[in-house]
Amino acid sequence: MENMFCFQCEQTARGTGCTAAGVCGKKADTAHEQDVLTCEMISLATAAQKNNATDERAVDLIVDGLFTTITNVNFDTAKVAKLAAEVKAEAEKYYSAVVLKPEDLFASESLNKDIRSLRSTLLFGMRGMAAYAHHARALGKRDADVDAWFVKGMAEIGKEHSVDEWLGLLMEFGGVNLKCMALLDAANTGAYGNPVPAQVPLTIEKGPFIVISGHDLHDLKMLLEQTDGTGVNVYTHGEMLPAHGYPELKKHAQLKGNFGTAWQNQQKEFEGIPAPVLFTTNCLMPPKAGYADRVYTTAVVQYPELTHIEADANGHKDFSALIAQAKSLGGYAEDKNLTGINGGTTVTTGYGRQTVLDNAGAIIDAVKAGAIKHFFLVGGCDGAKPGRNYYTEFVKQTPKDTVVLTVACGKFRFNDLDAGAIGPFPRILDMGQCNDSYGAVQVALALAGAFNCGVNELPLSLVLSWYEQKAVCVLLTLLSLGIKNIYIGPSAPAFFSDTVLNVLVEKFSIHLITTPEEDLKAILG
Ligand code: SF4
Repeated sequence: MENMFCFQCEQTARGTGCTAAGVCGKKADTAHEQDVLTCEMISLATAAQKNNATDERAVDLIVDGLFTTITNVNFDTAKVAKLAAEVKAEAEKYYSAVVLKPEDLFASESLNKDIRSLRSTLLFGMRGMAAYAHHARALGKRDADVDAWFVKGMAEIGKEHSVDEWLGLLMEFGGVNLKCMALLDAANTGAYGNPVPAQVPLTIEKGPFIVISGHDLHDLKMLLEQTDGTGVNVYTHGEMLPAHGYPELKKHAQLKGNFGTAWQNQQKEFEGIPAPVLFTTNCLMPPKAGYADRVYTTAVVQYPELTHIEADANGHKDFSALIAQAKSLGGYAEDKNLTGINGGTTVTTGYGRQTVLDNAGAIIDAVKAGAIKHFFLVGGCDGAKPGRNYYTEFVKQTPKDTVVLTVACGKFRFNDLDAGAIGPFPRILDMGQCNDSYGAVQVALALAGAFNCGVNELPLSLVLSWYEQKAVCVLLTLLSLGIKNIYIGPSAPAFFSDTVLNVLVEKFSIHLITTPEEDLKAILG
């Protein structure tokens, strides 16, 4: 098979691009089909825009197609090719589609570096937004403006633009992604209630259990309903941890705790696990032989030879195969005491937007009285590359009169630390998944309103870690809101050309992380 080109995630080979095979395990033929799928989606969007004839089926195909190409989601070449064929057929059914080649748009190192950088940034951001739109759709929520932008954005990716026009599109997209995150927030809280603080054990109780990973709360709810009264316990993994805060999910007594640490440790932590594991979204790594027969996928997540659970025509998923396997494996014979990476035996979550805003008065009083001197939002994705212990050390070194808000899975670097408390609050407040960055933005805006200043004038610093494409859409949203002085690590995206990085530094005062000591000194003075 021909070589590939992919540079969409932080672990890309040599920091420049995967060209023989993906560091993530993606093979060249899968990468090629993902590029073909992307071009078919651009063709569909271009033709739909030209004919002013966007329909829901076309948008749904674009959303699923974009989500399919996110890092650690789909490794199944045949399934990706099938989806590309469906997109092509849809375009040909209604529109006269144009034919585009990946190497002319983004998949070649010989293209103009700055244009390829800006085009890729928009494409990767849209991949992230597609994941959020997909989860909202699972709960029956969609938004006409967001849908229309999936068509507009993909059509624009197929066109030529000046640097300024690309930057304008990126900022417009950031605003639309905020709307999409708000949609998902409304979908999740509407279905399962506003998250409330919860202490989550890391111990796995004896007896049969299932581990569920990823972001899709609707999948978790279906699994909980089907495990009610079966004697099979359910444990979250990775980005599913914040589920423990939602009243309609935590009311299922068999939702017991969280299994393991960060996603990138799964090949070690799942080895020999006496239970099945369900992946609802990224981050799936190629499974090892020691547990591959216990891994199930659903939605757009797929890996050759793993059992895939499809929804029926009504959206219902039958998890009876997992429940039967959980019973036959039997789980651990005795309670298994697992810990976080710092040795903690429990973690807390559930400090969602509403909980924090409900306590805004006390928080504002604490700031005015000097009990809280600074807020840090330490959020984003975790990853395997060295250098990410920066975030553990950063949080450890934050002064005791500061609060650390966190979202997404980077929190597994420090969420089992006992960092103390300020008044009734722990110093580390887990606000949820990466999409709950929406809630963090709402809190920042509320604080700015209370102190009668802009977000950039607040005693608030954003220290972000990135790995995959959802981090890209969240970053573009923050920039579109005019938020400056964001610290990003562990390294600059390979798809930022020098020119693009310089523009972001000049326009938004973005900083690449250095050391916890130096960055804290720069922030706190
Ligand atoms: Fe490489 Fe990341 Fe692309 Fe995988 S997703 S092929 S690791 S750049």
